[in-house]
Amino acid sequence: MSNITIPQSRLDRGFEKHKDAYEAAALRVLRSGWYILGKEVEEFEKEFAAYVGVPHAIGVGNGLDALYLAFRALEIGEGDEVIVQGNTYIASVMGITMNRATPVFAEPDEYHLIDPEEIRRKITPRTKAVLVVHLYGQASRMDEIVAICKEHNLKLVEDCAQSHGACFGDTMTGAFGDIGCFSFYPSKNMGAFGDAGACTTSNPALAQKLKVLRNYGSEKRYHNMVVGVNSRLDEMQAALLRARLKYMEETTTERCAIAARYDEGITNPHVIKPLRCAGATHVFHQYILQIPKRDDGAGDAARTPRDAFQVFLADRGIGTIIHYPIPPHRSEAYAYLGMGEGSLPATERLADEIVSLPMFTGMTKEEQQQVIDAVNAWDGV
Ligand SMILES: *Cc1c(COP(=O)(O)O)cnc(C)c1O
Repeated sequence: MSNITIPQSRLDRGFEKHKDAYEAAALRVLRSGWYILGKEVEEFEKEFAAYVGVPHAIGVGNGLDALYLAFRALEIGEGDEVIVQGNTYIASVMGITMNRATPVFAEPDEYHLIDPEEIRRKITPRTKAVLVVHLYGQASRMDEIVAICKEHNLKLVEDCAQSHGACFGDTMTGAFGDIGCFSFYPSKNMGAFGDAGACTTSNPALAQKLKVLRNYGSEKRYHNMVVGVNSRLDEMQAALLRARLKYMEETTTERCAIAARYDEGITNPHVIKPLRCAGATHVFHQYILQIPKRDDGAGDAARTPRDAFQVFLADRGIGTIIHYPIPPHRSEAYAYLGMGEGSLPATERLADEIVSLPMFTGMTKEEQQQVIDAVNAWDGV
């Protein structure tokens, strides 16, 4: 794979674009003499809350911690069920199981997002919450999902690790649920320069609980109210994220423009382009193509058309990634759930059919055209 000239993702271009702002932020922190829970985190929390449109944001160590702490603050644990979509990054599920709660998987709709009808089917007397994942950057169908949660008195948690800035209607993802969970892993649409995350909420009591939990269960130094964790956002990442936040509109516009060029340029009948859901915006953390498997039993089952497509693009210098090749319920980590092959057919099919095209800040028009030409040149075998 060393002859890849257009990787699926690269982060140096995004840094170069606003290099001066990031270097100034980093120097400011280095010279301040204050590195944990200070002014930068405080200001970032205010600015990020305003961006999402909620009163409270709480900086934490990473996206997984944001999810773990959200369920912990909501007191969801052993014996409780949380409904989550089957096709997600495994961290969504780990946030649930780290609290000893049980994930109950729902199948995706045609937008690769949780199907509201599936949520209804999976509700039991033990269901305590729904975790929606705005996967790939498109907002889930929040009108229906919020209504279902109200009707059944369920908590609503949002995994916004891929959806910074995406809206359903006029509301931004992260502002619908009891708690919104963000990751600022470097490759996300809003990336730090290291690990970072945040929770958002409109509930002041939950905000307070999250602040205590992230810092050893203490509000006042050496007065520990509960057994918390150390999951603080540091001043360096907070300062860098404040700089990133200033360019979020530009970042989102750029990713959407790349997606629009792919939408327009890709005409190959062997690939399915991503569908847009009415009412939702898509910020294109990933641009996903779907390449249907052969259902006639012909061909090599171990090498799907999607796999052949990836090799075809790699031979032309174009990198692709599968987000994600093994659904959480089929991973070794969750073998204990006892969910065999075929238990989530739509989820498992997607894992064999999806592929993510190159998508990053600073991708040139020539690079975009090279990807489009290569996709269109594939003959489907
Ligand atoms: C990246 C990601 C996470 C986890 O974030 P980290 O900061 O890497 O812990 C959780 N959920 C989804 C959907 C993600 O893409």
